[in-house]
Amino acid sequence: MQPETKNIAILGSTGSIGKQALEVIRANETVFAVEVLAANSNADLLIEQALEFNPNCVVIADESKYHYVKEALKTSDVKVFAGNKALAEVVEMDDIDMVLAAIVGYAGLESTIAAINAGKQIALANKETLVVAGDLVTRLAKEKGVNLYPVDSEHSAIFQCLAGEFHNPVEKIYLTASGGPFRGKDKSFLAGVKKEQALKHPNWDMGAKITIDSASLMNKGLEVIEAKWLFGLKPEQIDVIVHPQSIVHSIVQFTDGSMKAQMGLPDMKLPIQYALAYPQRIKTNFKRFSFFDYPQLTFEQVDIKTFRNLALAFEAMKKGGNAPCVLNAANEIAVDAFLNDKISFLQMSDIVEKCLQTVKFIEHPDYDDYVLTDKTTREAAVLMI
Ligand code: NAD
Ligand code: MG
Repeated sequence: MQPETKNIAILGSTGSIGKQALEVIRANETVFAVEVLAANSNADLLIEQALEFNPNCVVIADESKYHYVKEALKTSDVKVFAGNKALAEVVEMDDIDMVLAAIVGYAGLESTIAAINAGKQIALANKETLVVAGDLVTRLAKEKGVNLYPVDSEHSAIFQCLAGEFHNPVEKIYLTASGGPFRGKDKSFLAGVKKEQALKHPNWDMGAKITIDSASLMNKGLEVIEAKWLFGLKPEQIDVIVHPQSIVHSIVQFTDGSMKAQMGLPDMKLPIQYALAYPQRIKTNFKRFSFFDYPQLTFEQVDIKTFRNLALAFEAMKKGGNAPCVLNAANEIAVDAFLNDKISFLQMSDIVEKCLQTVKFIEHPDYDDYVLTDKTTREAAVLMI
């Protein structure tokens, strides 16, 4: 019997993850249908996607683009909405089975929470959601019977390794890190790097924010916190190991000492498809791994002294409360400033560290506390630029 089509809402459809998700859907038209497409301001691409995939509706967060999108889609039956409020409302639509949360940054929090509240299954790319409010988001998901399927490649790897092991305790996990474009470099080198260098990731082609985060190792810091919440781990159960080839996507070590790793060529379409189709594996024509292209897979210790962001993320995770929310907000401001040539590469960590020291600590934050923490941290960080 043919299973029913799964109706997907893609929040962030014009981004790197969103576009690759649409490639997966295009290749599996009988398995998936697009119900909602949402983007920030890239109206032309959103229109093009809407004309191809014919969703029930599209949302453009930037309200000034509403009339442009509406006009372009007037001969279709695609409904058009605009603004952040609409974004949080459309995810409640009855026909949606799963929401792919692929907005970048804190901006993805509200719509992800709204989708969980509406009982939608979540394919989670937006790691910042769990960094900012992991406690609240995972509790809510449990309460609503919603699964959070990881899209991040490392977390998808851990999730795949845990298949069939749900009653076996995990001793620890190793998140692999490529090391980014500046692996092996020292602080004096990092002091002078320009955004063009930081934007050249050796193994992955991603959005600008996550590419800078990968170069500064903040991405791995955010992923450590993401893993804590997704898999219910203690900070000391999470380790990071540098693996420059990005073939081993992460490793789980069980209490008997056995280790399971998930491997494959670096291609985000694979974890995206696994999250969308879980528990099925769908046949693909993605390029296969050849041992002879990679005669050596290597592993090395992460240089946490040079790449301070990772140490700061571990600290924030251990401190808990609103500290990871502060870390995230400060980092978003810092990355934006670096991308606009306003601060140097190393100043990004300075800003994050200062915000962690100065923004008021809240041990048991509720949603409003997170919103306020994000706002105050951004204001404090902007003053440091
Ligand atoms: P991107 O910058 O390429 O795309 C971001 C998307 O979010 C765009 O569609 C944009 O229109 C939308 N967006 C941004 N701000 C918005 C707002 N205020 N309201 C509505 N929409 C908004 O980013 P990306 O690389 O696709 O990353 C998306 C998320 O997935 C991030 O959280 C990132 O950490 C995570 N992720 C990405 C990759 C990757 O390979 N790109 C891998 C793992 C995890
Ligand atoms: Mg990742």
